[in-house]
Amino acid sequence: MDVAQFKEFADASLDFIADYCENIRQLPVLPNVEPGYLSREFPQTAPQKGESWKHIMEDINTSIVPGLTQWHSPYFHAFFPTGQSYPAIIGELFMAGIGAVASNWESSPAVVELEVRVMDWLAKILGLPEEFLNSSDGPGGGVIQTAASESTLVGLLVGKHRKLQEVKSSNPNLQDCGILGKLVAYTSKESNSSVEKSGIIASVKMKLLPTDADGSLRGSVLEEAIRKDKEDGLIPCCVVASLGTTGTCAFDNIEELGKICQRENMWLHIDAAYAGTALSCPEYRYLLNGIEYVDSFNFNAHKWFLVNGDCSALWFRNTKQVEDAFKLKNIVDLPQFLPELEHWQIPDHRRFRALKLWFVIRIYGVQGIQKHVRHHISLAKHFRSLVESDLRFEVITSNLGVICFKLRQSEAVTQRILENIAKRRKIYIMPYYYKKQLLFRFVICSRFITVEDVECSWREISSQTSEVLKTLEE
Ligand code: PLP
Repeated sequence: MDVAQFKEFADASLDFIADYCENIRQLPVLPNVEPGYLSREFPQTAPQKGESWKHIMEDINTSIVPGLTQWHSPYFHAFFPTGQSYPAIIGELFMAGIGAVASNWESSPAVVELEVRVMDWLAKILGLPEEFLNSSDGPGGGVIQTAASESTLVGLLVGKHRKLQEVKSSNPNLQDCGILGKLVAYTSKESNSSVEKSGIIASVKMKLLPTDADGSLRGSVLEEAIRKDKEDGLIPCCVVASLGTTGTCAFDNIEELGKICQRENMWLHIDAAYAGTALSCPEYRYLLNGIEYVDSFNFNAHKWFLVNGDCSALWFRNTKQVEDAFKLKNIVDLPQFLPELEHWQIPDHRRFRALKLWFVIRIYGVQGIQKHVRHHISLAKHFRSLVESDLRFEVITSNLGVICFKLRQSEAVTQRILENIAKRRKIYIMPYYYKKQLLFRFVICSRFITVEDVECSWREISSQTSEVLKTLEE
């Protein structure tokens, strides 16, 4: 492909993307394809000769788009929002076009410097304390990771290392292997599955503790678990708390958990993958109560913050402890002007992901982001009022953009309604089992969503409920 073809292809691609986004409301939110459909349409071997980009564009239209779940459709109410916006799309293009990767400052100064600066902007937008800033006098700082899962793993690994060092320093005769097998970490039963997985990867037993009636992990539960485990000779090293659980967007009690972590010298990692974006609005900053006890804090800018994936922001109170865990001891220290981000992560290099954040923050401005968040939350409140006005349903939880509600009928009926809705492919909602109840889980996701879209989705749920109840009466 020469440069003229590249420009032609790029123009056509941008036209395609703009039309795709603007017309997404017209596309069925769920695809109507059978498993293996693409393998039947596409050849089994790669082309020997290069093809024209025009053929690829045809395939995009005829084979790829029909097999897509439309994550940005206003009728997509499953999982969580997934970040996408025009500035972030262009940011991705620049990232790919510039194609720089960086480990340390020397390998690409702008990549490191922009990340350092933009992570500080972001920390300030969320209202994180000064100690977490790269520019603070202390050892705090932030770095972009690939995913919330990876951020949790990093927090857990550093917590594991810190506890190992602590136990060894007070018991110099103990061997590492004797200590490591006894380490234990805690999270709630409502935390994302990636938290339990991080325990498997880090070889630390991750205990899933029960939550209170609001889905929140409380200090008393943690206290009791630690007491029992210590009696059994185990060594508590880390707590992963959720600000916004995946199911109902519940909030663990950071203040209660934090006090215990401080006393026990346990690492406290916060997973605010979705809900972290709400902190851009000062009225939700109360969620940060207890942040003074937190060692690492993570949220996914690639969820609700309008940045295309991947872009997961992770801050540490003390990056020296991270470096102590991850930095190879034989590395010769050069004079440093800036944080050594490469030692705060698992991969060696980083792509230029800060560009996406920088574009989004500059083009939306803080006020634009706040408007987006408040719009989603006001639509969630509107949806809640629609559910509440229908006596067949009961709202069980409602937090930020996530509403979970149930039908006052048997679960089998709920199951039938969900199946019918899925078959019709007009909206995408998911079931969620919460405290032994089958719920409808409805999330405001798309950046294109309007009040009319929410009402349209509600009509689909309501009419399918009527249909199923009618057939049962017949
Ligand atoms: N944590 C929470 C609360 C989530 O909801 C999710 C995904 O939805 C994750 C972690 C995992 O995010 P990622 O795919 O970025 O690892």
